[in-house]
Amino acid sequence: MNLIDRIVQFQSDIARIRRDIHAHPELKFEEMRTAEIVANKLTEWGYAVDRGLGKTGVVGTLRVGSGTKSVGLRADMDALPLQEHNRFAHRSQNDGRMHACGHDGHTAMLLAAAQYLAESRHFDGTLHVIFQPAEEGGGGARVMIEDGLFEKFPCDAVFGMHNWPGSAVGTFGVTVGPMMASSNEFEITVTGRGAHAAMPHNGVDPIMTAVAIAQNLQALITRNKKPIDTAVLSITQIHAGDAYNIIPNEAVLRGTVRTFTTEVLDLIEEGMKRIVDGTAMTFGAEATMRFVRNYPPTINHEKETDFAAGVMRDVVGEANTLTDIEPTMGAEDFAFMLEARPGCYVFIGNGDGAHRETGHGIGPCMLHNPSYDFNDELIPIGATYWVRLAEKFLAKA
Ligand SMILES: [Zn+2]
Ligand SMILES: [Zn+2]
Repeated sequence: MNLIDRIVQFQSDIARIRRDIHAHPELKFEEMRTAEIVANKLTEWGYAVDRGLGKTGVVGTLRVGSGTKSVGLRADMDALPLQEHNRFAHRSQNDGRMHACGHDGHTAMLLAAAQYLAESRHFDGTLHVIFQPAEEGGGGARVMIEDGLFEKFPCDAVFGMHNWPGSAVGTFGVTVGPMMASSNEFEITVTGRGAHAAMPHNGVDPIMTAVAIAQNLQALITRNKKPIDTAVLSITQIHAGDAYNIIPNEAVLRGTVRTFTTEVLDLIEEGMKRIVDGTAMTFGAEATMRFVRNYPPTINHEKETDFAAGVMRDVVGEANTLTDIEPTMGAEDFAFMLEARPGCYVFIGNGDGAHRETGHGIGPCMLHNPSYDFNDELIPIGATYWVRLAEKFLAKA
């Protein structure tokens, strides 16, 4: 690996900051302490610092030379509502809150890069380091954009990164096009007419209607979208009734839809309305549907992905640069930034879990698991990638 020596030198200082953030996790839009640490460090290193964009977001700007190009590097800062199971010294001090997705590490890697770039200044143009709140379900990236992120801090391109447990340390993964799925929620309320269970002919059964809707909806996946298009429709809740001998008035279904394109999502949402209405009518019931689009699909732009892959090869070599990885059906709110600007989102291998203290289970310890911990070995790797990417993107013409 071609790591930057200077970053390797100060990586333990950055790891201390990472562990301090890990010990003090903050939920979406409450990242006051974390934002304070980030803003103070950036100020110390000579960045112009903007605070409060998207409530708790921080943007640091560094201009060098007279180049007109600009690039945005983004990290997320928020934690999850989860009770940590780890017992090491830097475990969460905040009950029911935990950095189980490694956003503490994402913040640390970008800080390490920011420190080095401020010292070395080997670029010509404008660097924006973007620390966003509320990636976990809060749409912090969307809120920052609505607050004027790209008007105040114009970026020719924007780049993001997530640690990936199970992939070896020293590897990067990326793919052109869909990298993560759109995430959407729905709630269907079926209204029938309650009756004595022994005299169903006096009522309209919302449970039979709900079950038929649940079954019919899968036809959208198998019959309506093209077989080569990817989509998932999962019903995760059905609620109705509370007695053995009463047909209830109402039944509620809830679930999620995931797709890699907005076109397929449009098709599924439209189809759901049709099936919900039609099935309810068949049974003489009524039904309403609430459909909420949370995150769009995370789509990597071709030119920026090729560019990012070139930087990865410089840092970890050809063999450790995986450019055709399988996309995941998880979602990521960096998607909003990739809708607004060209760019690329990559995975950095977090290893097999051997970095964690023994006694916390075996295996790679996946994201959102109460025994997860970010691997501090990644700090110089991720930071070197950020630095080389910024230097190359903002190279003197
Ligand atoms: Zn997460
Ligand atoms: Zn995450």
